[in-house]
Amino acid sequence: MKHENIFVYCEINEEGNVADVSLELISKGKKLAETLKTPIIAMMLGKNLEKAVKQVSEFDVDKIIMVDDERLSPYRTLPHSSIISKYLTENTPEIVLVGATSVGRDLAPRLASKLQCGLTADCTSLEIGQHEDKRKGVVYEDLLYQIRPAFGGNIVATIINPETRPQMATVREGVMKVEKPETAKEPEIVQLNADDYLSAEDMAVEIIERHIEPQKINIKSKQIIVAGGYGVGSKENFQLLHELAELLGGDVAASRAAVDAGFAEHERQVGQTGVTVRPKLYIACGISGAIQHRAGMDQSAKIISINTDPKAPINAIADYAIQGDVATVIPRMIKYYKHNTK
Ligand code: FAD
Repeated sequence: MKHENIFVYCEINEEGNVADVSLELISKGKKLAETLKTPIIAMMLGKNLEKAVKQVSEFDVDKIIMVDDERLSPYRTLPHSSIISKYLTENTPEIVLVGATSVGRDLAPRLASKLQCGLTADCTSLEIGQHEDKRKGVVYEDLLYQIRPAFGGNIVATIINPETRPQMATVREGVMKVEKPETAKEPEIVQLNADDYLSAEDMAVEIIERHIEPQKINIKSKQIIVAGGYGVGSKENFQLLHELAELLGGDVAASRAAVDAGFAEHERQVGQTGVTVRPKLYIACGISGAIQHRAGMDQSAKIISINTDPKAPINAIADYAIQGDVATVIPRMIKYYKHNTK
C-alpha cells in the first residue's frame, strides 16, 4: 500500500518559537515532498501555538496539525508520544522527520517502537531513491535514503526501510539548511482535541519544579569561526584564538581532541558528535581534518587552514592553506588585521 505525506514534528522552544531544527527539517521535507509529489504536514503540540503556526505557515506546508493545550507544555514524554503515535497510526505517512534534540531523541524511538517501524538516528543527508532486492527479485521505488556516518565515521551508510512505514529519521541541528520560500500558500489548519487522545496514565508524570540554565556558548549562528585543534597545544594558546575571533567579530570552536585535552569547553566542539556550523569563514588552526570533524564544518563558505603539516587532510577542503606554527601565524594575523583596519 502506498502511503502519502511527509510528516515533520515541530518542536516548540521555551519562548513559544518553532525550534530551528524543525524549520530545517520542513525545508528539507519540502524538497522530498516535491520529489515524491506528496503533501508535507507539520505537527505541533504545546500551549499558545499561534506564533508557532504563523512561523511554520511561511514555509509553504500543506497542512498544520496543532494540539493546543496547557498540559502539553513543557514537553513530557507520555502525553506527547501518546498523541503523536495515535495520530500517526490513524494517518500513516510515508516519512516522519524529527529533530535529533534531547526532546527528539526521547520522542522518536518511542514513536518508532509504538508504530513498529525502523528509525535512523542522526542522519546527515536524506534523499529519495530506489533499491533492488536481487534475492527477492523486487525493486522498491521512492524510498527514503537515510544517510549517516557509521562505524565511528569510517563509512557513510545509506539505510533504507523497504517495507515498513513510516520511514523515520532524526537529523541533528544545523545539518540541513533553513530555506524559506518567497511565497507560501495558506496551509490547512487542523486542531485536535488532546482529550480525544490522552488517557489518565499519560498524565502520570507531574512536573513539580523546573530549572533552566541559559546557554552561555552558542557557536551555531556565528558567521566567523576560529577553530582550534590539538595542534594549538594548550589552553593558554587558545587565548590567541579568542583574541583573533574577537577582533574579527566571531567566536572560537574546537576539535574533539582539543576539547578532550581541556583546551576548550564541550559546547565549542564541532563535528559528528558536536555542533554543525556553516559560517562564512572557518579558520582551522592546528586541526588535522578528520572526517568526524569535517562532518560539522565542511559546508563553511570559506575555509583557511593553519597547519605545520602540508599533507594534513584539512588542506584538501581548505580554500587557503597556511603552512606554519599556530603560535607564529595567529599573532601575525592579529597584528596585520589591526594594522590594516586602523
Ligand atoms: P590531531 O588529529 O592530533 O591533529 C592535530 C593537527 O595539528 C595535525 O594536523 C598537526 O599537523 C597540527 N599541528 C601540530 N602542531 C601544530 C602547530 N604548532 N601549529 C599548527 N599545526 C599544528 N572530532 C571532532 O573534531 N569532532 C567530533 O565531533 C568528533 N566526533 C567523533 C566521533 C567518533 C565516533 C570518533 C571515533 C571520533 C570523533 N572525533 C571527532 C575525533 C576525530 O576522529 C579526530 O581524532 C579529531 O578530530 C582530531 O582532532 P585534531 O585534528 O585537533 O587533532
